[in-house]
Formats: sequence, structure tokens, C-alpha cells
Amino acid sequence: MNRDRKPLIAGNWKMFHGGTSGVELAGNVAKLVREVPHAELVIAPPFTVLAACAQVVAESGGGVGIAAQNMYPKDSGAFTGEVSAPMLKESGCTYVIVGHSERRQLFGETDASVNEKTKAALSHELIPIVCVGETLAEREAGKTLAVVERQLRAFLETIAKSGTDPSDRAGAAIAYEPVWAIGTGKNAGPAEAEEVHAAIRGWLAAASPALATKTRVLYGGSVKPDNAAGLLGCPNVDGALIGGASLDAAQFGAIARAAEALALKA
Ligand code: PEP
Repeated sequence: MNRDRKPLIAGNWKMFHGGTSGVELAGNVAKLVREVPHAELVIAPPFTVLAACAQVVAESGGGVGIAAQNMYPKDSGAFTGEVSAPMLKESGCTYVIVGHSERRQLFGETDASVNEKTKAALSHELIPIVCVGETLAEREAGKTLAVVERQLRAFLETIAKSGTDPSDRAGAAIAYEPVWAIGTGKNAGPAEAEEVHAAIRGWLAAASPALATKTRVLYGGSVKPDNAAGLLGCPNVDGALIGGASLDAAQFGAIARAAEALALKA
């Protein structure tokens, strides 16, 4: 953690809590806001409850960002089953997760399609949380950094080509999620995570020092209350993208409190 960046604790609910239980969970997350003023909380519910979660958060005084788990890069049109950035904004989203490994692996998303979504999100001032990470086979073949750099390259080119000062942008976050650690109970140790996070910071800095200072690089992959402090304590880890543990307000709250304690010390 670094004092230049407010830690971002984001919960990816995946295909869970798509009805009344989701609205209830959002209300419980909203109650945490006052306890963790030095951390930013974001939840990514299924599409079916985005607007209802945004409403319950607003009614409790706000302070929890709403993220979609995916989006389509066109604004509107004959794209059955898809949801656009303007629609997400109208539903109360300020963030969108793009390129989650489940979308890359199960739904054929590529670096190119992830970048199209990133561009569209930025152009609508939705903050993309761009997911990168290697598979177990890639890690065992010693290709971790090469894979992550390749996944990040299109994002960096998009930012460079935009011709604007990246620090003027609404912002973007990167989530380093080793695929072998997602939903498996295995997680990268703090040293393994920091190695990749430091490399990501270096690539961001090579594109733009302002971008490197501003961009939050989250860790994701079986983050739980008992390992959160170790991971969040790494100098280049600026928060977490949390799947399983975000489905329970008590566990999500424990991770957010760990971030708050570290932010106070940074
Ligand atoms: C995720 O879905 O982004 C994730 C990191 O899941 P989990 O925390 O369950 O590994």
C-alpha cells in the first residue's frame, strides 16, 4: 500500500445474489462505509440488481461504488443479450470489470476485445478494472511476466494514444489475478504478488509516470480475512478484487478493515 493511492476493495459477486439477497448484501456493505473512511468500497453485483443495489447504497448515504462485471463496447444496437456503458451508467455504475479470467476462459474474450471494452468504458467515464493474470501452466513455464505484460500492452497503448494527460482521466484500475488462484483457495504469497505488481507499476511508469502514481493495482485470487493484511501490505498492492469472500458482508468487512488499518499506517 502506498499513501498516494486510496485502497480499493472490490467485491465481484459473479453469478450470485441476483435478487433480494443482493439488495440486502449491498445494504450491509453500505453500513461498513463509516468504519473504513480511508478505503474505497466497490461491489459488482449481477446486472439484474445493479440499479437496486445503487439505490439501496444511495439511500444509506452512498460511499459504495457500483461496478458491472462486464459490458459490450458499442453504445446501442442489435446486440441481443448485451449491455452498454451508457446503460450501466444509467443503472448507477461508476466502475466496470473488464477481462476477468472467467470471461477470457469461458466466453472467448481476447486482449483485443478486452481493450475495446476498456476504451469504451473510459470514453463514457466508467472506471475500468482491467483484469490480467497468468494460468498455472504459464506460471510453471516461467511466462508470468511475459503474459501479464502482453495483456497490459493494449491498455497502455490506448492510454498513450488518447493524447491526454492520464492523470486527468476518471482513472482505471488494474487487477492482477493469477488464474490458478481464483476460487481455488490457493493464493499468491505476498512476495509472489509483489513481484508482479512491481512489474506492472514499472510498465505503467514507462508509459507515463503520472499514470503509475495514480493507477491502483489490485490483487485478486482467494483473498480472505486471514491473508488480506499480508497481501495488502505489499508496497505495490493498492487493494483487492474479491470473489468468494465478497459474498458475505462479515468477510468483506474484515478485509476492508484490514485495508483501513494499513492505509492509516501508510
Ligand atoms: C475473482 O472472481 O475475481 C476472484 C478473485 O475470486 P476469489 O476471490 O473467489 O478467488
